[in-house]
Parts: sequence; C-alpha cells; structure tokens
Amino acid sequence: MKGLFKRKKVITKVKICPNCGIELPLHVKNCFSCHTKVGKIDQYGRGKKPFDWIAYTICIFSWLVFIIYFWWAFLR
Ligand SMILES: [Zn+2]
Repeated sequence: MKGLFKRKKVITKVKICPNCGIELPLHVKNCFSCHTKVGKIDQYGRGKKPFDWIAYTICIFSWLVFIIYFWWAFLR
C-alpha cells in the first residue's frame, strides 16, 4: 500500500507560453507566436518568464535621466 501515496512525476514534453498560452517544444527559448522569451517550466509545464534585467535597467536609467533633467531645468 506504500506505493499508493507516491507522487507521480509529471513528465511534459511541451511547455506553455506564459504570454499567449501556446504549446512549445521544451528546447524553444522564444515563443513562435508572440516572441516572448520562455524560460524553464514550472511543475505545471508552464514556461516561466525570465527576469528581464536589460528592460528594468533601461527603465530605471530613463527615470533617472528624467529626474536629473527636471532638477536641472526647474529646481536649480
Ligand atoms: Zn506566446
């Protein structure tokens, strides 16, 4: 009876795009349909979105430039 409570490993041969939900082969890094980056899959076979450092850096940098410009233009 021991075996009854053993958890079965879910083996998935596809991963699901986190953005549009399309099924993709495991080795694919970008979605065919929406071109979102698809990372490793979670236990549900859903691809994780890799953390986009470049986009965050650009966003923070552009805010910094804006704040510095604002200070330079109006608050000096
Ligand atoms: Zn997609």
